[in-house]
Amino acid sequence: MTSSPHIVILGAGLIGLSTADSLLRRGARVTVVEREATVMRGASFANSGMIHPSQACNWAGPANDLAVDAAVQDLALRSMTLLQDRMTGLGLTAMRSRAPGCFQIFDHNADADQGFARLQARGIPVERRAKSSQTFDRPALFFASDRSGDARLFGDALARSVVTQGGEIQLAAQAPKIEMHEDGRATLVVGQDRCTPDGLVVACGAQSATVLRAVDIDLPVSPVRGWAADFRLPEGASVPDVPVMDASSRSALTRFSDRLRLSGTWGEDSVTPLLDRWGHIAPDFMAGLDAPIQVWSGLRPVSVAGRPYIGQTRVSNLWVNTGHGHMGWTLCAGSGALLADMMCDGRADTRFALT
Ligand SMILES: Cc1cc2nc3c(=O)[nH]c(=O)nc-3n(C[C@H](O)[C@H](O)[C@H](O)COP(=O)(O)OP(=O)(O)OC[C@H]3O[C@@H](n4cnc5c(N)ncnc54)[C@H](O)[C@@H]3O)c2cc1C
Repeated sequence: MTSSPHIVILGAGLIGLSTADSLLRRGARVTVVEREATVMRGASFANSGMIHPSQACNWAGPANDLAVDAAVQDLALRSMTLLQDRMTGLGLTAMRSRAPGCFQIFDHNADADQGFARLQARGIPVERRAKSSQTFDRPALFFASDRSGDARLFGDALARSVVTQGGEIQLAAQAPKIEMHEDGRATLVVGQDRCTPDGLVVACGAQSATVLRAVDIDLPVSPVRGWAADFRLPEGASVPDVPVMDASSRSALTRFSDRLRLSGTWGEDSVTPLLDRWGHIAPDFMAGLDAPIQVWSGLRPVSVAGRPYIGQTRVSNLWVNTGHGHMGWTLCAGSGALLADMMCDGRADTRFALT
């Protein structure tokens, strides 16, 4: 690749923006192309905010592959350090200094005990906690090393920084798609414009597989819907200051600076199961909330393998950074840095290869 390569990134979610940021810091010329009118409108828009290396396991597959989980956890730990540094660099000091930790709550003691044993065996830092008001009187695990923060606030700040660093972000791009150039490289087509950059990165989240299908590349990533309902912070009620994750519904209650968010569930087609579940877990607390100020749903880009795809495709200038499933906020900074290392410095990491 030339000394100052031109890289085009398709998709301005957490992953595309983090990739852009990392590439700019390595001296690349970067253009981000996004089909929506603003950045961060995909799965990154209203997630649960947990930066949770503790959850580095396959939520989609029937059984976990321990080597894959270890690779994701490794990336997550590197990512958390990079993410916290980036928060500081972007002036997000309140986010950087949020109370550490996440709870995971269970219906029964036996489930919590089983989860504790499984995570301990994998070397994940975890504490078994008794029922308390912070866990809505449910048996719990506590992950003291996990963190949290408002992903959208971060992504918006990162987008501004990308532009300040000289990157370009093209919004509302007209039906961007990829075609093969006659020289065997990938070309980006946006309306009447065509461009064959040194590197073209697909970071389109749950749409990545569709985008790549146009050039006959099979990406085993599928969309899995999740929901979020935001509420005004209730006056007088005690709200846990770290996220509380419900193991059985794969959802969480997270307090942000200006709102409270219930978010998650896995493949449901409405917000009702999420609200019903928390009505069951915390009936008094839920009864004290006003109607939601925002209800949203987004599609997680879930990879069959239980780990993201980060690296080059069989087309020389075409790269992928996608398939982060329930871990995209946790993994964004590390994934961006890893792909930038690959593209600029020739680093290889077959653990995340698209094979
Ligand atoms: C309810 C919910 C809760 C979650 N909670 C957490 C959590 O607590 N912690 C955590 O680590 N992760 C969490 N996640 C997962 C995380 O949010 C995702 O993994 C992450 O947002 C994926 O980022 P992305 O950039 O790959 O995709 P997206 O954010 O979806 O971004 C993809 C972008 O590509 C654009 N795009 C698509 N097609 C094209 C095209 N053809 N041309 C140009 N642009 C295109 C889209 O418009 C979008 O802007 C949660 C997800 C959900 C849904």
